[in-house]
Amino acid sequence: MQDAALKIGNALKDLIWPRRCVICHKLVGPSADRLCPACAAAVPEPISGARRGAHYRRWVSAFWYEDKFRASMLRFKFGGCRFYAQYYGPWLARAVEERLGSDFDLLTFVAVSPLRRRRRGYDQAELLAKAAGTLLGMEPVSTLRKSNRTKPQSRTLSREARQRNIRGAFRVLCPEAVRGRRVLLIDDVLTTGATVSEASRVLLEAGAKSVDVATLAATEK
Ligand SMILES: [Zn+2]
Repeated sequence: MQDAALKIGNALKDLIWPRRCVICHKLVGPSADRLCPACAAAVPEPISGARRGAHYRRWVSAFWYEDKFRASMLRFKFGGCRFYAQYYGPWLARAVEERLGSDFDLLTFVAVSPLRRRRRGYDQAELLAKAAGTLLGMEPVSTLRKSNRTKPQSRTLSREARQRNIRGAFRVLCPEAVRGRRVLLIDDVLTTGATVSEASRVLLEAGAKSVDVATLAATEK
């Protein structure tokens, strides 16, 4: 009886909010996977390149921040689609395994400010770290606290303005959790690298042995 009620409930939900592909946003069948066959078959190659910014060692991203991937991430970040993280997780984990290996003993993430988190209801980088961490066999630890006073890193800001804006924005919550650790730091988008550089700087200052960065997406420079 409960099963039947659940089925009817799900059918109604599909009728009101038809299921769409997480990436391309095309309609998928009512009980189909949220990743359409075309998007599932076309997993992008991970991206890495010259370091942007300073302090961390290497970076990798699962895809470029453009077209359908950018639109998908905007729904994830600003449209309340927090469940997208479970689809992004395997792509991020694969990028880490292929390009950075598994030499890590601490998984952490670039936290949003407590104010932003309250307003949004979730921290997108934490969700990504959790989803990827399940596959990497690591539970993310919250190590960074971001000041409420930092303005968002708008893409219209110059590289220098972004560096100034983020300077001093983070503090390490528990240096003893970081000390001597090889850290894998997760964020959503890599742009100039100013944010992950600053987060890496404070983690190293707190005693981390090394920091490597994995983001879901990267912008063209
Ligand atoms: Zn699709």
